[in-house]
Amino acid sequence: MSPSAQRWRLGGRVQGVGFRPFVYRLAQSLQLSGWVRNDSGAVEIHAEGPVERLEMFGAALLERAPSAADARLLEVSRVPIESAHDFRIAASAQGRSQQLVVPLERCPCADCLAEMADPLARRHRYPFINCTQCGPRYTILRSLPYDRSSTTLADFPLCVDCAREYVDPADRRFHAQPLACAECGPTVSWEDGKTCARGDSALAAAARALRRGDIVAVRGIGGYHLLCDATNEAAVLRLRLRKNRPAKPFAILVPTRGVDGLDYVRQLGGVSQLEADALRDESRPIVLVTLLADAPLAPALAPGLREIGVMLPYSPLHELLAADFGAALVATSGNVSGEPVLTEVNEARQALAAAADGFLHHDRPIARAAEDPLVRVVAAAARPLRLGRGTAPLELTVSRPFDVPTLAIGAHSKGTVALGWDRRVIVSPHLGDYGTPRGRALLEATVDQLQGLYRVRAERVVHDAHPRFTSTRWALQCGLPAIPVWHHHAHASAVFAECALDEPVLSFTWDGVGLGPDGSLWGGEALLGAPGSWRRMASFRPFRQPGGERAAREPWRSALALCWETGTHWSEGARRGGALLRQASESGLHAPRTTAVGRLFDAAAALVGLVAVTSYEAEAAMRLEALCTTAQAPIMLPLARDDDGLWRTDWGPLVALLTDEHRPLGVRAGQFHASLARALLDQALVIREETGVERVALSGGVFQNRFLTESVLELLVARGFRVALPRLLPQNDAAISFGQLIEGNALRGAPCATPT
Ligand SMILES: [Zn+2]
Ligand SMILES: [Zn+2]
Repeated sequence: MSPSAQRWRLGGRVQGVGFRPFVYRLAQSLQLSGWVRNDSGAVEIHAEGPVERLEMFGAALLERAPSAADARLLEVSRVPIESAHDFRIAASAQGRSQQLVVPLERCPCADCLAEMADPLARRHRYPFINCTQCGPRYTILRSLPYDRSSTTLADFPLCVDCAREYVDPADRRFHAQPLACAECGPTVSWEDGKTCARGDSALAAAARALRRGDIVAVRGIGGYHLLCDATNEAAVLRLRLRKNRPAKPFAILVPTRGVDGLDYVRQLGGVSQLEADALRDESRPIVLVTLLADAPLAPALAPGLREIGVMLPYSPLHELLAADFGAALVATSGNVSGEPVLTEVNEARQALAAAADGFLHHDRPIARAAEDPLVRVVAAAARPLRLGRGTAPLELTVSRPFDVPTLAIGAHSKGTVALGWDRRVIVSPHLGDYGTPRGRALLEATVDQLQGLYRVRAERVVHDAHPRFTSTRWALQCGLPAIPVWHHHAHASAVFAECALDEPVLSFTWDGVGLGPDGSLWGGEALLGAPGSWRRMASFRPFRQPGGERAAREPWRSALALCWETGTHWSEGARRGGALLRQASESGLHAPRTTAVGRLFDAAAALVGLVAVTSYEAEAAMRLEALCTTAQAPIMLPLARDDDGLWRTDWGPLVALLTDEHRPLGVRAGQFHASLARALLDQALVIREETGVERVALSGGVFQNRFLTESVLELLVARGFRVALPRLLPQNDAAISFGQLIEGNALRGAPCATPT
């Protein structure tokens, strides 16, 4: 029978996972000729041979593909014979670049770990070992398509042995772009002002320093970390002092141990199956785990909290370091007080000089910064609190195409930027706060980089409607037509689009504060509708924010405001000069009105005496949640329409509960959570009665609270509501850029009105 030829186009994450070598080997095994090449984010395959073998080939392409590729068939067609003699991996096609897909970092695979541990192997203890199945991707990428010449490994010419592996179809490093060895690849180096070392002695020096209780800056995949012994209280306190980080919890890096790698983690905390799966995910995120009471860790790691962020080693370097050290290490971003993570050797040397006793550098350039992703298991799924290394850029498909390529730049804190074109959206890794010069610079660089990487030029920008945000000012100056979007509309639209909803939804948007269309600070709103048409249906009784933005850091101010409204005497408030503040507030000075549930949490934490002044965002809510160990009965909060017909929940009865010192702290905290959950249900019930809406969505940072969210879900589901909760994007302001794109695209020519 005469041979015929077929051509396939496959999409998915088919680049950077060894897909072309897989196709090559498959074709060889079936004795087919032809070629495979990367083409604009897809893989194109041409194969020639007898029809039955072509059919086997076509079936195996999808069935036996590397699982990470998530391959899907885009197109298959009969084509004319090219009479090829063999099967080869052809050069990447240039062209329809807007379909490019960015490959993401993956932790070391089992084969590489085994090789690294083998004293006879060429890469024994080599900290940059990788293969087609694992290693760095996005952070080493200078441009697409993903070939060695477009990564930062282009600076490292392959030695003879590596070059042989690269071209050998039988080798698992066949076309592994970041492949390297001690002979030709990057190296680690140690410096501490007194000594310098390279290679394995650098690693040994770092481990010795950590054992002494020193603080060590380690250059990782997406930037620097500061490491210290997590069992050494003095070391942890020293790190807190040097980083100017009095209480914010530190995450830890733990050695891989036991059959599933989690034996060490299990000495520290209870790990559910979902948490175990999340810990072992190939992006190696930080996962929040509930600590055992007698966990052998420094108490200063997470004061006042019961959970701690735990991460398994995400690179061979960290694998070696954690194993050599043999116990938990603090692993916190190598940056100065909340600024973006440092990536460059010289920058880190200077900026971290006062914080670190020693540096473990390496010489593989970092093309793009990426911080550790963070996840928490809430309501039976691992949900991200932060996107980062291995999980971003996050790609989503949306139902409504963009008419022009559009950029959205997020709000103010937990910044991410998003780029949308056709029906694709790309969300950047976590960029941090835009308020500092470095934060703003990172925002600008990421905007450029994302557009460059995907070769898409934005023709429109969407920003938060808050006029004073750094991001707003940047958007208005960038030269593109700008669409402002209300903060909570963006939250609601983000969940709507991520969950692919197609009918009006009642979206509870509970967070800290964001500017609302009525000029007050929203944050406890129930919005009905769909992107482009949100209608506020319910909210909370408003209260003042004495001192304006200072209230975010000083929960006692929100507490005092609740006391004023309810005529409650609160001695702590009086001690802090409440009377003077009240005079100023009543004359309208720096005391905007808010309905933010995030501020109710602040007030509650202050009223129970837990925290009057916070040192990190969400401290009050996190510590209040940590007190909730058992379910408590709610207090029923009055719900009534105001003069404008808006349903408002009165938080008033909570003040007496919270200040009742005869009740144990845990009971008060539990009842506070239960009452808010019940208030949400009551709002949903009256609005369903009125409108028939059956579908509820939860958005906003408040729903990162597991105790609250699971209580809310239980109540809603019991009453027959269907509930949408995001699981790709965080609930917090990291989702704002995505929501802005959706909302902006729905509004298009008809942007929201500016505040009066
Ligand atoms: Zn590998
Ligand atoms: Zn080599």
